[in-house]
Amino acid sequence: MRIDILTLFPEMLAGPLQASLLGKALSDGRMEVALTNIRDFATDRHNTVDDSPYGGGAGMVMKCEPLFAAVESLRTRNSLKRVILMSPRGERLTQAKVRELAALPDLVVICARYEGVDERVSQALVTEEISIGDYVLSGGEVPALVLVEAMSRMIPGVIGDWESVETDSFYQGILGAPQYTRPPVFRDMEVPGVLRDGNHAAIRRWRRREALRVTRARRPDLLIDLEPEDKKLLAEIEQEAPISEREK
Ligand code: SAH
Repeated sequence: MRIDILTLFPEMLAGPLQASLLGKALSDGRMEVALTNIRDFATDRHNTVDDSPYGGGAGMVMKCEPLFAAVESLRTRNSLKRVILMSPRGERLTQAKVRELAALPDLVVICARYEGVDERVSQALVTEEISIGDYVLSGGEVPALVLVEAMSRMIPGVIGDWESVETDSFYQGILGAPQYTRPPVFRDMEVPGVLRDGNHAAIRRWRRREALRVTRARRPDLLIDLEPEDKKLLAEIEQEAPISEREK
């Protein structure tokens, strides 16, 4: 898939895009990310991209003209069917949304700054607004990276072992199971025996059960639309000791 990111600070994105699995997805050509500097589309000699708000008040607002021109300049490379604005007013990003977006052939992502964009950008240029959570950052660059990195994990071949994606938190609607690695005993804390016995059916069942247990303790709101098998495991968990403080 191809993602065009529009920003006033391309240098904030260039480094992180080269690192780790995300960088590999890009160098392998599984994903293509191009950065466009919004300032290159300013229309006056001072390269102005922002102006003071009508009606007064604090801060500056990103102007329409450079943003419309920057998006429209991508026409030959991008279908422009989905133009996303990173915004705290947007729909909260979820794994389901990430999966939906990662299946698209292309996408435009706009990172705003200052007090945000002129409302006409939201109305007429952008197809949807996405928020990464109920807090405010100074710009859309970090949110755009969050979105792109989450999408990269959904693209086949980026994560070598697809099973690790499927057992991640949220992929199957619930939180992930606890994980352990060597040594088997560390400061009197022992790795559960079932994980060391090599009985794969028992391990799968234990993991599902522990994933349900941690979800019940921390995010009971996620326990919806459960399969009968999960309901049985949950009933078993409920028979056990009450939720301990440690699980929280
Ligand atoms: N005045 C705006 C906030 C502007 S913050 C308001 O009250 O809604 C500047 C920019 O940072 C935003 O326009 C957006 O692009 C980005 N941003 C800040 N917080 C964000 C969040 N939680 N999710 C996505 N983008 C965010």
